[in-house]
Amino acid sequence: MSGFIGHAVYAALAVEQAERRGADFAPLARRHWASFLAGSYLGCDIQTMPEAICADTGREVGYGTVSLERSPITGGAVRPYRFRFGDETYTPRQIYDLFYGRSHLVFGWNAAERTWTLPWDHLAEYCALVWHDAAELFGPSDRPRAYVLGWIAHVVSDTMIKSVRPGVELHLLDGKYTPKNRPVQDLFAFHAIGREELGLDWPALIDAIADTSVEAVQAHAMRVALPRGRLAVAYPDPWLPQRHDLLLAVMAENRRYFRIWSRHEYDLLQLRETADGWECHEDLTRATGGLTYAEMMRAAEQAGLRRAIGQIATAIVDVWEQVDRLHRWQSNAGRG
Ligand SMILES: [Zn+2]
Repeated sequence: MSGFIGHAVYAALAVEQAERRGADFAPLARRHWASFLAGSYLGCDIQTMPEAICADTGREVGYGTVSLERSPITGGAVRPYRFRFGDETYTPRQIYDLFYGRSHLVFGWNAAERTWTLPWDHLAEYCALVWHDAAELFGPSDRPRAYVLGWIAHVVSDTMIKSVRPGVELHLLDGKYTPKNRPVQDLFAFHAIGREELGLDWPALIDAIADTSVEAVQAHAMRVALPRGRLAVAYPDPWLPQRHDLLLAVMAENRRYFRIWSRHEYDLLQLRETADGWECHEDLTRATGGLTYAEMMRAAEQAGLRRAIGQIATAIVDVWEQVDRLHRWQSNAGRG
């Protein structure tokens, strides 16, 4: 899953694992839970904005860069959404091209900047520099560090679920992560893991995340700021300070639309009680090719979805620990 529900579940499970390992950074995530989870989604997915405007109702619809032919509200026409900043306007695609690779680092760079793709085996080192700068340049609060932990969780889990990196064994219905199995993954993550296993209060969480402050450390981590700190020393390129204010405005827009979009996703994932037990929204049944909710949960169990999600959480904690180790090492080397 690569939506908010999936990323929140990966990140929350990773914190539980980190606590079991006794990692001393784990309490940080708990202390700033909303910012941590905001980092695990909005820390990367800067295209969290409307895709279009419903022509009849004037309401914002869709999710940035996912093309929309008709309004999901009326079935009627849509007009494109544009993000306004100063005298300029941007389509979600333009925002994506400018910033997506910079937040995801190891994939997703636009064609002209692909050369900046960070090799996977440099990711922990890069994150350790950001981890250091988060305290040094963005402290004294440790909230930016909690946000950075969330951001790392997103990069790792996105990389795995999108098969940029191996490590997730999953064949659910027709593959690892497909339009057909996505509703199964989302429903399972939302109900079985989020609600039942982790006890998450989704509506409260959505509001808390939407209410979090924009974290300037994100622009630093994306190198969309004046180059400074340890990150700039180790990675002198490709900084883009001239887009800093635009990115801050985008991050605020991400939070605004996150509330609207996530409430929509929340509604879509609700179950209703029928004579045959719990049933999900018909749109989700249609996307899976006609499966009932019970059949979806059976498919999830047979495919070992819980185990696969656990593998992703483990990979996140492994990277967090590597970052922590490298950071200690970098700091000692700096003193020597
Ligand atoms: Zn992403």
